[in-house]
Amino acid sequence: MRAVTFQAPGEVRLDERPEPEPIAGDDAVVAVEATGICGSDLHIYHGRVELEPGFTIGHEFVGTVLAAGDAVTRVSEGDRVLGCYCSACGQCFFCRRGDFHKCDEGRVFGHGATLGSLQGAQAEQVLVPHADLTLRRVPEGMSSDAALFAGDVMGTGYHAVAETGIGEGDSAAVVGLGPVGLCAVQAALAAGAAEVIAIDTVEDRLKMAESFGATPVHLTDGDPRAAVKGATEGRGVDVCVDAVGHADALDLAARLTRKAGTVSAIGVYAEKIQVHMGIIWIKALTLKTGHANVIRHVDPVLELMEAGKLDPTPLVTHHMKLDEAPEAYALYDRREALKIVLTP
Ligand SMILES: [Zn+2]
Ligand SMILES: [Zn+2]
Repeated sequence: MRAVTFQAPGEVRLDERPEPEPIAGDDAVVAVEATGICGSDLHIYHGRVELEPGFTIGHEFVGTVLAAGDAVTRVSEGDRVLGCYCSACGQCFFCRRGDFHKCDEGRVFGHGATLGSLQGAQAEQVLVPHADLTLRRVPEGMSSDAALFAGDVMGTGYHAVAETGIGEGDSAAVVGLGPVGLCAVQAALAAGAAEVIAIDTVEDRLKMAESFGATPVHLTDGDPRAAVKGATEGRGVDVCVDAVGHADALDLAARLTRKAGTVSAIGVYAEKIQVHMGIIWIKALTLKTGHANVIRHVDPVLELMEAGKLDPTPLVTHHMKLDEAPEAYALYDRREALKIVLTP
């Protein structure tokens, strides 16, 4: 089968790879129908996340179950399914608490040996461990473009918002309108936020957030702090999502949030940064961090997508063929696309 493999920083290629076979009883094999390129694939592409040359990349997928082990009960051969970006064992201390994203045996598709040596989904077929937890049936009538967000990007935007405990009538701000930030805007509105202030520097992204119902504010041409004050009687927003993963974004999020409010840092942090703990402490802020517990959220996310309250399809800007993966990565790297969907 054909698969997109990492070769070297800036170089991916289409390779011929052996077809996967279910080994464990709870494994399944999925014939991929659509697979996304994600911002985290770019970290691999840039060499910031190290990967063995020849490893298959990708972690967002929709497809059809080709084979399932005897212990798989929730999906069966022929089902149209979507995958979560990672797998979890369902048995360990963390899984028993519902913290599937912190599973002791957690593995992420397409991220090489450091994250569990699980071959990626930008391929014609993908092996899926713990299929009952990792896969869901695609709801009747849902497009692949929509479904592949549920197990990754929309699940992450939803997680960022759900972690804050936001409620009906609350106010929110989202710093950074990449795909996750845009999904967080939708999730905040779906959770009943009365006001969502969406902050970025890219006009198209600000316009898209506005089309979802947010108030767009340009980071530098506008004045996010004034906009937030104006919308909240000077208090600050109840919750703020940092969907960037940079010291400046986290600092802004802490300043935009009201006293005793919540900052949700969903952007990726790998380095040591300076945080103004004085502001966080004096304001009694709650800080939520870490990558998303998508396995826990995938069912409510799918329900909200079915109900039309979440709709990631406007984020898909490009459809390309699996064969065109090298061009697709180069295009995504030039920031000319918001979401590229590859089809075999
Ligand atoms: Zn992703
Ligand atoms: Zn576990």
